[in-house]
Amino acid sequence: MVMAGGYEYNIRDWREVPLWKDVPEDRWNDWRWQAGHSIKSLEELKQVLAPTEEEERGVIDCAKYFKFAIPPYYASLMDPNDPNCPVRLQAVPKVAETYFSTADMHDPLFEDVDSPAPGLTHRYPDRVLLLITDYCGMYCRFCTRRRFTAHDHGIQSLKALEPAFQYLEKATEVRDVLLSGGDPLMVKDEYLDGVLKRLREIPHIEIVRIGSKVPCTTPQRITPNLVSILKKYHPLWLNTHFNHPKEITPEASKAVAMLADAGIPLGCQTVLLRGVNDCPTLMKRLMHKLVMNRVRPYYIYQCDLSEGIEHFRTRVAKGLEIVEHLRGHTSGYAVPLFIVDAPGGGGKIPLMPNYLVSMSDKKVVLRNYEGGLFSYPEPDVPPSACPDKCVACQTDARASVEGVAGILANKKQRIVPTDTLREQRKKKHRPQVTIPLQVVPEDH
Ligand SMILES: *Cc1c(COP(=O)(O)O)cnc(C)c1O
Repeated sequence: MVMAGGYEYNIRDWREVPLWKDVPEDRWNDWRWQAGHSIKSLEELKQVLAPTEEEERGVIDCAKYFKFAIPPYYASLMDPNDPNCPVRLQAVPKVAETYFSTADMHDPLFEDVDSPAPGLTHRYPDRVLLLITDYCGMYCRFCTRRRFTAHDHGIQSLKALEPAFQYLEKATEVRDVLLSGGDPLMVKDEYLDGVLKRLREIPHIEIVRIGSKVPCTTPQRITPNLVSILKKYHPLWLNTHFNHPKEITPEASKAVAMLADAGIPLGCQTVLLRGVNDCPTLMKRLMHKLVMNRVRPYYIYQCDLSEGIEHFRTRVAKGLEIVEHLRGHTSGYAVPLFIVDAPGGGGKIPLMPNYLVSMSDKKVVLRNYEGGLFSYPEPDVPPSACPDKCVACQTDARASVEGVAGILANKKQRIVPTDTLREQRKKKHRPQVTIPLQVVPEDH
């Protein structure tokens, strides 16, 4: 039994599980042993728990879609008596995964479409995503990148990433490189060191960040040697991935403490999952436990439209309900942004409850978390110098020109969709200039 703030979780000591009863402590705590002894078959799973029929068929039928692997440590967190155990739901395939919904997409975030070099996705103006391996210690059943992960492209090599590095050398607008995968920490120390070293040779890259679930699924991977490598490449940030308070064990706490002690700012990207964490009270508990471990909740993601995971999806409303239960009710540090990554490459879009009720020239009407209405009087002074008379706006080559920010910065007047019937008509019939009213210039 492990107590987690009023909740009790059934977590077994590994020596209680017949499969591991003779495993000595030093082996159990060795991440290579963990990676080499993942549960990958029904026979092995049956030595850890008695699978339900749904799980048994899931393990067999899912094999052709998306690999199944659970490191012994993470498997030891599964409750053998509860098929709805949140860890078990994330780790053990169910037959529902073989049903593809009409909304499902192979590459819902269009990561391949926005890819200028193998492993690289460049969608946003100043930052890129770099996949350095397709290998993960644990294959989450709701993986957004299941089209790529676990398909035995093997560990990528510096040579395979060279086109990506060469692209980045030329892309001087990129100041932030996000390493992901697979799990970018489930690689050999020397390879990771090589990737970071190569990136740090590119002067315009200001920050490097790592997205890794290792502190949750194989905390043994956070070794003194790994930490000493990461420390060499500051400023380096790390976002990890916990979905349930039960996952924050003493081992996980130790792993994140080692990273935090090395001066690595830590964030958490949680995925909202039906049956696992779609509860505002439980989410608040998770956020509190993260903050206690010096991990700042960064995002809660709406589940993506990847194939075979519709049973994990909640309605978007659930995310708003959760934020409504956090903001104002608890420390701001414990309130992440709720994000929908828009299918089709729309990117991350934050959603939150409405706090702006109305506004006039003179005041803004706001509501707080208690439902009270308050007014904020606007200042009786001339507007700010931005963008027209502001030195920073006028001189910084990286100042925003895209989107609504571009309109506000006077860099563009409007954003017009190009594929509408109206636009097609305009192309077909040259504008008639006989009626004066229609001679308004298109751009000014
Ligand atoms: C999520 C993501 C990023 C990073 O986004 P942030 O909001 O800065 O964390 C960058 N590139 C791609 C393609 C992404 O999906």
